[in-house]
Amino acid sequence: MKTALVLGAGGFIGGHLVKRLKHEGFWVRGVDLKFNEHAETEADDFLIADLREQDNVRAVIDRRFDEVYQLAADMGGAGYIFTGEHDADIMHNSATINLNVADAAHKRNIKRVFYSSSACMYPAYNQEDPDNPNCAENSAYPAAPDSEYGWEKLFSERLFLAYNRNHGMQNRVARYHNIFGPEGTWTGGKEKAPAAMCRKVAMVRSGDTIDMWGDGLQTRSFLYVDECLEGTTRLLRSDWEGPVNIGSDEMVTLNQLAGMVADIAGKTIHINHIPGPTGVRGRNSDNRLIKEKLGWSPSQTLLKGLEKTYEWIEGQVMRNAA
Ligand code: NAD
Repeated sequence: MKTALVLGAGGFIGGHLVKRLKHEGFWVRGVDLKFNEHAETEADDFLIADLREQDNVRAVIDRRFDEVYQLAADMGGAGYIFTGEHDADIMHNSATINLNVADAAHKRNIKRVFYSSSACMYPAYNQEDPDNPNCAENSAYPAAPDSEYGWEKLFSERLFLAYNRNHGMQNRVARYHNIFGPEGTWTGGKEKAPAAMCRKVAMVRSGDTIDMWGDGLQTRSFLYVDECLEGTTRLLRSDWEGPVNIGSDEMVTLNQLAGMVADIAGKTIHINHIPGPTGVRGRNSDNRLIKEKLGWSPSQTLLKGLEKTYEWIEGQVMRNAA
């Protein structure tokens, strides 16, 4: 039986990845600081461990696994990573985890680790025009991410690729762009735009007003979690190291995103634009490289993913209200 290790298995993408790997027939070990909040884990073995501690990381990487996914990170939506209040924690926690994981995997003679970097590592100067952002993989330098979260991601993707060059590893690096779906954080300050929008719309009546940070003209693309996992497993199993974007290239404004959610809910919603952290002005996944190298790219519409996500978040809102 093939074995897999998912670090960050108690998180949103990690939880979905465990399910997928189980479905594919793997024996799966999951590791996290916490269990999944929204669903029982399907991992065969789930260890609660702080991956900032080197001894813990050596203990969980106690054998060779067929597939290793490193998703653990201190992260959140704009309300967490763009306010500046958590910068030191974000950099220290995530960099320490990645240093420990790369080292422990190498010492255990594990050849290949998947690492989830982020589109937040792209230079802010290429993302000022909301209609025409440049997030091609080769546009990363000169580096100028707009958040410390992005700088840490850039450091860590370089770290995993340095192990490839110096220690004969075959690590794989993806740059995720705004992943969303059911069973993700939808409240509490670490949620991202699609979940926040679904929650706000679910909580009001038709004709009511919701708040939105910024003027809503900033653009983004959002990738449904199942397609993220498809790209993730395809990259890990391919003979190419990346870095590569795993994201949707269906770019919308935040106002359009809110409109889509309101339509799904069947509500008329007014938007009150308020000051708040918004990140870069425009961002979209450039999928030319993934198509060329993996012969695949995400194709599901944003609307389809939003329908599933809204249904789940509406259920959470109703359960909380009951
Ligand atoms: P998440 O926050 O839901 O999952 C990350 C998990 O890491 C959490 O469960 C957290 O408890 C765990 N973790 C944090 N510190 C830890 C520690 N010291 N020891 C053990 N576990 C620890 O985030 P996610 O959305 O599932 O993202 C997974 C990965 O993908 C992260 O590396 C993230 O930076 C990256 N990424 C995500 C997105 C996105 O839109 N979701 C976009 C770009 C990159």
